[in-house]
Amino acid sequence: MEISTIAERAVENGMSEICLTDHLDIFANEIPRGHFSFTGTGEYRFTWGDSMDMDALKRDVEEVRKEYAGRLSIRLGIELGQPQDNPEVALRLVEKLQPDFIIGSIHTMPVDRDLYFFDFGKMDIEAFFREYLDREIELAKHYDYDVIGHCTYPLRYLTERGFSLDLSRYADQFRELFSSVIARGKGIEFNVAGICREVRVLLPELPLIREYLRLGGEILTIGSDSHVPEHVGAPIKEGLMLLKEAGVKRIASFSERKPVFHEIG
Ligand SMILES: [Zn+2]
Repeated sequence: MEISTIAERAVENGMSEICLTDHLDIFANEIPRGHFSFTGTGEYRFTWGDSMDMDALKRDVEEVRKEYAGRLSIRLGIELGQPQDNPEVALRLVEKLQPDFIIGSIHTMPVDRDLYFFDFGKMDIEAFFREYLDREIELAKHYDYDVIGHCTYPLRYLTERGFSLDLSRYADQFRELFSSVIARGKGIEFNVAGICREVRVLLPELPLIREYLRLGGEILTIGSDSHVPEHVGAPIKEGLMLLKEAGVKRIASFSERKPVFHEIG
């Protein structure tokens, strides 16, 4: 997906600001990898990882920024997967990129194995989810990020494959997760990619957003997780409507790692 295509779609959908946050997964035993979907002139297209040309990426973003000046603010962020699995590498990449915004998330369990590959039918799903949340709490407490991304991520795959979980059993862990985030002055993401998928799962669903706010959470960002142009703006509109209905007054965006708040109109 070209950065300029993303910008065009965002403007068409009435957005005034976007932050590009493609994935960069950190592994314990492999080099970092991204499912990088931006394309441009830079070498970063195929060489994600330590060798990635972040300067080329920044140059391309800068070019599109100029083209859209006055119409759309374009921030450059990153979704950093499980930085705890190789903290030095994570730190080095972040220092190189100097992102506006970091989504911290967990994609692998216990290390280096993406959730996508799990055969949930053969697993103790309850224990697995508990372990997932522990891993997220570890990230929330000790590593660098601005918001925790899609904090109920396993539910995407579980639901798609016909499994369900009673989240009330994990109330203590969610409380610990949210309290840790809040204590560090950080936030969580409302990931609305599920709006565009066949199986609709919001990550997290609204009761957990309300719990986060009840505990004093103030920083809430909204992310479309779009991998194709059609998904750039539409789910955000619907997601904002859902938040408004749930009583959420404002969301945050980030510039140079600092939150900026926007009332939901
Ligand atoms: Zn993710």
